[in-house]
Amino acid sequence: MTALDPSAFSEKAGFRSWLGLGRGSGPDLSDLRMLAAHLRAAAPGSRADLIAAITEFVDRHDLDVCPYSLGAAHDYVSGDDPLLMRLIDERVMIGQAVTVEWLRKLRRQHEGDSEATELHRSFEKLEKHLIEFGSTASAARKATQDYGSSLEGHAEQLNNSTDLSGSVSEILSLVRGMIARTDEMEKEMARSERQSDTLRRNLETALRSAEQDFLTGLPNRRAFEKTYENEYRDARAAMEHLVVAFCDIDHFKRINDNHGHETGDRVLKAVARNLSGISSDRCYIARHGGEEFVVLIRGKSLVEAKELLDAARIELSERHFVNRQTKAPIGHVTFSAGMADVFAYSDRRAALKAADAALYMAKGNGRNQILAA
Ligand code: GH3
Ligand code: MG
Ligand code: MG
Repeated sequence: MTALDPSAFSEKAGFRSWLGLGRGSGPDLSDLRMLAAHLRAAAPGSRADLIAAITEFVDRHDLDVCPYSLGAAHDYVSGDDPLLMRLIDERVMIGQAVTVEWLRKLRRQHEGDSEATELHRSFEKLEKHLIEFGSTASAARKATQDYGSSLEGHAEQLNNSTDLSGSVSEILSLVRGMIARTDEMEKEMARSERQSDTLRRNLETALRSAEQDFLTGLPNRRAFEKTYENEYRDARAAMEHLVVAFCDIDHFKRINDNHGHETGDRVLKAVARNLSGISSDRCYIARHGGEEFVVLIRGKSLVEAKELLDAARIELSERHFVNRQTKAPIGHVTFSAGMADVFAYSDRRAALKAADAALYMAKGNGRNQILAA
């Protein structure tokens, strides 16, 4: 449950580059075609057909290769999502274009999913295929290697034979030709294996960055939701305390108004670092959005959890902030928090609501304080 180290985060994350939005370029239709062709050659069968069908779908609708188009193509051709299939067919029937934008909107509407959840799903799916492709390619490469060396053995035997008639030398050249072809295939397979490895690595980076807040490097709300669900389940099974807290920077708008957005961003990062100071495998910090952070504390009672969070609050409130550009004092930066004992509520959502209500009370009570629900 350790929060990510904000300093380790860089905007160069592979997510953008994989999508072709930033430096480097993302996969395109020709990459997909190549993948499908290699897969066909290596292991004809349903997986090869699936990738080929996905490629054909993306090609037919002239879609950019991105998680939305791949995810939708997969669900359409595999029959995983009958509703999506119907909607796409209906759209095609009325002569309207199937676009990435439309697919994205559709997904959000019909699943109520956040953008990040959708990305996650698509990436996971594609990643699974690539891993499968990688292992198929390895197996096929090994087979061609075995075939090659056994052919080589035969050729050697014939070559050493004293009774070399014309037909044998013909067979010999044939065999040599086959060896050369096997070599080529082997190289091709190794190349596509390397490609699939690179794609897989990029996907892993993309998945990580989809769960990370760009500004502070902390896990984002999506990552929090997942962690909250897991911690809730695990803490309940282990009969341990679980406390959830919302922290919201006090009068943050004023900092933006008086010192500019950039300075506001720097303050946000400083608060993220301050909260990260208490993070551990039992204390998880995420940026919930805007100038609000969420904290999960496991194995501590409400009182103990408040002590831990109070230490961070006090440390922050004692610092003097200065505008780096103008050198003008920003003064003290504080946050208020509301916390709740998760298992005192009927479910996770109710506990979150209670923590939010306690935060509201802390604000009303004068700010720079933590109240328990
Ligand atoms: P309160 O003490 O009641 O919480 O007051 P506040 O000013 O902190 O709260 P309010 O909700 O009025 O304003 C929050 C501000 O935070 C408004 C929004 O522009 C700013 N904000 C949200 N996200 C960011 C960000 O990523 N960077 C910067 N610089 N500002 C942000
Ligand atoms: Mg707020
Ligand atoms: Mg605020």
